[in-house]
Amino acid sequence: MHRLAYLSKNEIESDPVILKNEIQEILTISRVNNSRHGVTGALMYNATCFAQVLEGPQDAVSATYERIQCDPRHSNVVILDYSAVDERLFAQWSMGYLGVESDASREFDRLTENIGADPAKLKSDQIFNLLQQHMLEAETA
Ligand code: FAD
Repeated sequence: MHRLAYLSKNEIESDPVILKNEIQEILTISRVNNSRHGVTGALMYNATCFAQVLEGPQDAVSATYERIQCDPRHSNVVILDYSAVDERLFAQWSMGYLGVESDASREFDRLTENIGADPAKLKSDQIFNLLQQHMLEAETA
């Protein structure tokens, strides 16, 4: 079992309707593909960035990540963490998602507001913990 977390720069047009539609499309395909391949995880985004965690069998996580990183809807994909793990953090989520109005999203906005075009400037542990903490809260709610 492996877990991968990355950050990337959001390249989707900032028009809220277009952004919302693209996110919906990403979530729909993600849930189909990830369920099929035994991958679970969580996704968070704002107008600037994406943060995502993928977990599952190593081959499936790698193949999913390879596909995602070629997607022109984001760029500057930076891996924050890729390691062997004993168990899943997001077992119930083929692709959990934090909506734009949540407290976690506002915290994500604060953390990402000054990164400009360079996601590597973000503090990876903060982002990873934020995603983990809020998805676990949602899972147990
Ligand atoms: P196809 O649907 O055949 O598309 C071919 C190419 O076009 C791919 O490179 C694809 O990335 C790109 N593409 C597809 N739709 C669009 C579009 N509307 N605009 C621009 N380019 C497009 N997929 C998963 O399976 N699991 C995930 O967890 C997952 N997470 C994602 C997270 C983010 C932040 C992003 C941006 C994408 C994510 N995707 C995820 C989608 C993934 O990148 C692929 O689009 C999807 O898996 C379909 O892959 P495919 O090879 O069948 O591509």
